[in-house]
Amino acid sequence: MLAKRIQNLHPYVPGEQPKDREYIKLNANENPYPPHKSVAEALSKAALASTAKIGLYPDPDSNELRSAIADMLNSTGGVFYTSDVSGQKCSPSSRDKIPFEVTPDMIFCGNGSDEVLSFVFYTFFDGDRPLVMPEFTYSFYPVYCGYYGIPMCTVPLKSDWQLDKDAMLSAANKTDSAIIFANPNAPTGISIPRDEVRKMIEKAPKDKVFIVDEAYCDFGGESCIPLLAEFKNLVIVRTFSKSLSFAGMRLGYVVASPELVKSIFMVKNSFNHFPVDFMAQTAGIASCKAAYYYAENSRKIVEQRESFTKFLRDRGFFVIDSKTNFVFAKKDGLTGESIYQAVKKEGILIRHFSTKGIEDFVRITIGTEEQMDALKKIMGNL
Ligand SMILES: *Cc1c(COP(=O)(O)O)cnc(C)c1O
Repeated sequence: MLAKRIQNLHPYVPGEQPKDREYIKLNANENPYPPHKSVAEALSKAALASTAKIGLYPDPDSNELRSAIADMLNSTGGVFYTSDVSGQKCSPSSRDKIPFEVTPDMIFCGNGSDEVLSFVFYTFFDGDRPLVMPEFTYSFYPVYCGYYGIPMCTVPLKSDWQLDKDAMLSAANKTDSAIIFANPNAPTGISIPRDEVRKMIEKAPKDKVFIVDEAYCDFGGESCIPLLAEFKNLVIVRTFSKSLSFAGMRLGYVVASPELVKSIFMVKNSFNHFPVDFMAQTAGIASCKAAYYYAENSRKIVEQRESFTKFLRDRGFFVIDSKTNFVFAKKDGLTGESIYQAVKKEGILIRHFSTKGIEDFVRITIGTEEQMDALKKIMGNL
């Protein structure tokens, strides 16, 4: 009964969402802070005062939302952590100011960045050449390669867990291939500066897209949005799930040239006209307008990340410098699984991977101060 093409599927395995007891969840890189209260207000108003809209199809192209996202990017520079907050307004830091105006025609919205990535893979990749990516990066990329029949070329990280930029470039140039990675990368947390990405794009195939997934950029990485002025083949994928406390609503987007965005629209309109429902568009618009609140939350998370990193290092853990809302850590003599189990027993969920090469590590999402204090009590004894 089943189509042959599904025989080679290897579905993505998300962090567990257990129902058996109340855990502190530090295993899925969700944001520990609730959405801004204006988001709940917008949702209840939409449900109660605009009930009729629920029976109508939403704007298929999310136009008002795309405008709100463009405004948010222009006012924050694409990095909440570094943006200057004054009252309820954000302005970009001098480091991150975008040297042009991001316009709504440079934005494409989808039902979570996982779906956006799926559209992007379908739009830009064929089965005729491999897609180049790091060996350890967001594990949905290999899943989509299997789904769409796109061959992969995975390039090992360097011994210090940094991307091997030269090896990725030479692999891409050998087969005239596209490149994808997350920056900051997952699950390592390492960020590479914009200037280094610029040098990579300069040396990468010009007639193929170059994709940077900025899911974690708001926690202190450097966004590549400014580079869109220089490169027509750059595609940036971002999500509301992490820095905008929106994982349960599903909203992700692309920032790229209007030409590339148009091509992604064509694919979207051949699959599902309405990937972003009316409620998600409404809540998304309200979120963008409260950027200052999320910028403050990002700062709290970064502060906890730095304090937690120091705590673990003082107790003999190896912790990679992170520019995300999680840390990737290990300790000699312990496996990732044993750390995970010890912490779970005490009511906190973190994530470990059975993938060879990273099986000793745990990935810990940064929570509130209270949550991190609870975790420190447990991990301080390991
Ligand atoms: C979480 C994550 C995503 C997916 O985000 P959603 O918008 O929730 O689908 C994409 N890329 C990376 C690197 C992520 O960590």
